[in-house]
Amino acid sequence: MAETTTAALFASCDLPQAWAGQNAWRILETRFGEGLRFLSTWRAWKNDPQRPRLLHYVSLTQAPPPLDELLACAAPYPELLALAHELAPQWFGLLPGFHRLTLGGGRVLLTLCVGELTTLLRQQQFIADSVYLDPAHPDSTEFAAWDIWTVKALARCCRRGTGLATTVDISDDLRADLTQCGFEMGARQTEPATGPRRDPLTGQFNPRWTIKTTRDAAPGRAVEVGSCAVIGAGLAGASVAAALARRGWQVQVLDQGEAPAAGASGLPVGLVVPHVSVDDCPLSRLSRSGVRLMLQQARSLLQQGQDWDPTGTLEHRVDGTPGLPLTWPMPGRDWSQVSTPDTASRQMTAGGSAPAWTHGMAAGDPAIWHAQAAWLKPAQLVRAWLSQAGITFQGKAPVATLRQNGNEWELLDAQGEVLARANRVVFANAGGALPLLEAVQTAQPALDIHVNQLPVMHGVRGQLSWAMHARAIHSAFPPFPVNGAGSVVPVVPVDGGSAWFIGSSYQPDTKPASPDEKNHAANLGRLHKLIPTLGQALAEQFAAGPINAWKNTRCTTADRLPVVGPLHEADNPSLWICAGMGSRGMSFSVLCAELLAARWGAEPLPIEAGLAQSLNALRGSAATACDI
Ligand SMILES: Cc1cc2nc3c(=O)[nH]c(=O)nc-3n(C[C@H](O)[C@H](O)[C@H](O)COP(=O)(O)OP(=O)(O)OC[C@H]3O[C@@H](n4cnc5c(N)ncnc54)[C@H](O)[C@@H]3O)c2cc1C
Repeated sequence: MAETTTAALFASCDLPQAWAGQNAWRILETRFGEGLRFLSTWRAWKNDPQRPRLLHYVSLTQAPPPLDELLACAAPYPELLALAHELAPQWFGLLPGFHRLTLGGGRVLLTLCVGELTTLLRQQQFIADSVYLDPAHPDSTEFAAWDIWTVKALARCCRRGTGLATTVDISDDLRADLTQCGFEMGARQTEPATGPRRDPLTGQFNPRWTIKTTRDAAPGRAVEVGSCAVIGAGLAGASVAAALARRGWQVQVLDQGEAPAAGASGLPVGLVVPHVSVDDCPLSRLSRSGVRLMLQQARSLLQQGQDWDPTGTLEHRVDGTPGLPLTWPMPGRDWSQVSTPDTASRQMTAGGSAPAWTHGMAAGDPAIWHAQAAWLKPAQLVRAWLSQAGITFQGKAPVATLRQNGNEWELLDAQGEVLARANRVVFANAGGALPLLEAVQTAQPALDIHVNQLPVMHGVRGQLSWAMHARAIHSAFPPFPVNGAGSVVPVVPVDGGSAWFIGSSYQPDTKPASPDEKNHAANLGRLHKLIPTLGQALAEQFAAGPINAWKNTRCTTADRLPVVGPLHEADNPSLWICAGMGSRGMSFSVLCAELLAARWGAEPLPIEAGLAQSLNALRGSAATACDI
């Protein structure tokens, strides 16, 4: 059944001919169901030598099927089952909202949108090439309530020529609404004897009226793929380069340092962990999406156990705030009941009840277990991204200014030597971006870069304290990373053995830099609050030394959200920024890169449009309220 249904849908949308050789193909499915249409389409893409470079599949659902149901439905079809197993590790935390699942080596992008149908359709910011219409499963009430407003919202996602196909019976009312909203519907074939219709019913968006330009303006047109220079080879720049290279761009990444990750991204190890707040503010929601995308990248590019480890992380809320009763990342479970990964006896507590992880924390301390969290060595990931096809790295290349030459930008050093030429430029040079932009603006006032509308970015110095473990790891170390007041990453493989890392100091760079010893003391002070027993156990070592220091400067914004978007308001803005990652570059960099690349390619966004807007570069400097 699945085979014939999807083959029929495919043929009705003129696939695979229509997508042959395209840069991207965007399918909108109005109901995910058990996922068979998605799996079959992915398989067809995989087996087609003429497949488009990117397959975007945006699917809507009121509630995603549980993983076992998805696997069970695919079980009769071995090829689909294999794909379902590839999907399985990403099938978690599918709360209401948009979720981007990256598959097929980053070239099959499933955006699963969970919520109410009409609202979800209105939130879409892309134009579909094909629509799979499934008004409702005959045995379910999911999305049964189609009305003219739903159809109007669907039509908003279509261009002239968007194919529409359905293999279930649709009501006469829905058919009339589709026609009224500009779809030319094919003739019904046979009347169903009993049960649901399985003949493909085809349609095409081809209204008799001129399509309004206001709706065309929202998603924009895809920029022609060409060359791009990225300034800065940290997490922000390298992730932008990789996202663009996957879409066929030739990318040159320049850095003033000799090697990649010369700035804050040279951090020996850091945590990829979501932010949690009582009101689930934009920072929290964005960090969840970002962590999901970062873990997907780590899984596909890094060596587990050596470069990263999805150990999970315990967040100890030292200020006593309980945070959200999380259903993410463990759907359906209250975090207060969640046990730590290695032993069920180590129970988290939601204030007041049974003692938590007894070695480290006081009885009744609130904590959150983040199952979908990891430690990661960012420089390894930066190197992995930069080694991808289509990307070249140029070190010792300090960009001092830019000048326009035809449809290209020339990037110049302080001596006026041309370092690179490209159609587009992305400023991913963290704290170096604003001074460079000011220099460009001064040299070329006609450019009208809105530097003063960018959020103010501040430098915040930070220092990690670290040392090698003795032959035996001290029993006071937790079995997984802990954060909440600074952080502890207990065991990380390094040259010559394994090491612990405790961080991180936090000091504005407007003040004179503190000596290393003072920063070590500040880190130890936070550790005493985070895990008192470990603080006591390491106090002597901190006093006796030597403790190693790693330090650098974070680039932060007042609202703690990164800055991503065009820098000027041209028709086709060619200067973009991706910076301001603050203390969460490992959670935000991939999300920002995907957002930038999606906008350039007029692709579906990986997150809701409203959330994406909160990252806009020209959002001004107003702070967004966030409790924690
Ligand atoms: C002590 C400490 C601990 C941290 N812990 C964590 C953590 O646990 N989890 C987490 O997610 N984040 C953490 N962070 C934050 C994280 O490191 C940053 O958010 C992230 O590295 C920022 O990446 P970026 O690419 O924006 O900036 P950077 O890595 O600083 O890259 C900017 C690059 O631009 C280059 N550049 C600047 N100007 C120019 C120019 N004019 N021409 C050419 N090149 C230029 C620089 O050389 C640099 O390589 C921590 C940061 C610090 C300092």
